[in-house]
Amino acid sequence: TAPHVTSVDPATGAELARHPLHDDAALDAALTRAHDAQRAWRTASFERRAEVLVAIAAELRAEQERMAELITAEMGKTLREARAEVEKSAWVCEYYAAEGASQLAPETVDTGGARETYVQFPPLGVVLAVMPWNYPVWQVMRAAAPALMAGNTVVLKHASNVTGSALLLGEVVGRVERSLLETIVVPGRAVAAVIADDRIAAVTLTGSEAAGVSVAQACATALKPSVLELGGSDPFIVLGDADVEAAAREAVKARFSNTGQSCVAAKRFIVVASIAEAFEEAFAAAAGALVMGAPREEVDLGPMARVDLRDELADQVARGVAAGGRVLTGGSVPDGPGAFYPPTVVGAVAPDSPLAREETFGPAAAVLRVPDEAAAIALANASPYGLSSSLWTQDRERAKALAASIEAGAVFVNAMTASDPRMPFGGVKRSGWGRELGAFGIREFVNVQAITVA
Ligand code: NDP
Repeated sequence: TAPHVTSVDPATGAELARHPLHDDAALDAALTRAHDAQRAWRTASFERRAEVLVAIAAELRAEQERMAELITAEMGKTLREARAEVEKSAWVCEYYAAEGASQLAPETVDTGGARETYVQFPPLGVVLAVMPWNYPVWQVMRAAAPALMAGNTVVLKHASNVTGSALLLGEVVGRVERSLLETIVVPGRAVAAVIADDRIAAVTLTGSEAAGVSVAQACATALKPSVLELGGSDPFIVLGDADVEAAAREAVKARFSNTGQSCVAAKRFIVVASIAEAFEEAFAAAAGALVMGAPREEVDLGPMARVDLRDELADQVARGVAAGGRVLTGGSVPDGPGAFYPPTVVGAVAPDSPLAREETFGPAAAVLRVPDEAAAIALANASPYGLSSSLWTQDRERAKALAASIEAGAVFVNAMTASDPRMPFGGVKRSGWGRELGAFGIREFVNVQAITVA
């Protein structure tokens, strides 16, 4: 058989589709189309780009059910979550349609001597987007909407297990305007050559640390800029004066939404000893009450996206227990087909446990106890990652004072982390570099061009 990738339903293990890989000629043609399209698109006015983005949003909404069905089929999130993802993707298009022109408006600088000095922001060219399977439509559109509004076009290399969603998204966007988003079906190992290609100007990747290292190396060799959004092991810090019930309730959403498969899911629950027992009890009870099942039913969690990822999580939990962790709920792989793993809370996790040191990309929470606030912040920072964080205390002024000492791209006080098109999103340390979303995100893929008119 010809080289292909296979989509598998993780709820059943059934094969959904085989998608042929693009050969060299098909890949070359896609890059040429994206490159040619960019030459025309870069001269389009902001008004015209905004109209196209609004039309893409409308098309996404019109196709919401079909897209949600395919997302659920290919990676197992609940239909409810898949629908919400498509809606949020429409929103990010509308957000940049409304805000892009002012975010990229030329800025005058008074330098005294010259007649005019200002900064303008023309596009870079074609942006290669290497994207993951956890939010198959949102991850792409949150990268594509600002890139397009800035006048770039996008080549999408999506995760192999969601190739159907990638092709459908390309079709939906293509109906509005051809070749603004060209989907290429190639394996991860083919990406370095695409990065080196002269028609690619810049790269954005969301994915694992390993993929980030490969892409960063290829970008270094080709001297091309990149935005990397990699793993996280976000702390969810509960201080002694926190509203424990509210914290436990949000903790469940923060860890188990999207079946725990989110870069900004809370992964390490760092709780001050005085309230630890009350928090653990409420958290484990609420987690244990979540309903896991077929993702098209009225359930809280579907399966994980792939059996290999489920097996990896089960192994992490087993090693965490061997290192002294105590299972408070969940913790065993169910019989039967599918990549299911139950909502799991492990208490008494030590700072050097695999559950604290490694990213856990699924429905398993690690609870770590600390004596006080200072120890909580120190432990929160004792991670190679720094994506986001959540801090619970009734003393908001104290929380604001502590925020800058937390090594993370975001701090949510008395709330769980959630991305918002209006706010910058990204990490420090091994969580990557650059920012997505908001005004910072749209400026990643532009030429900050200084103009001096004497
Ligand atoms: P990967 O990082 O392997 O996949 C993400 C994307 O990168 C895919 O499009 C993938 O393509 C591509 N890719 C993989 N290897 C390379 C490479 N060497 N060079 C260029 N591109 C590459 O994620 P996995 O599916 O393997 O998931 C494993 C782990 O990744 C998770 O457990 C989690 O820790 C992390 N992850 C993080 C996400 C985030 O939002 N930050 C999202 C998803 C995963 P292909 O599928 O063809 O290999």
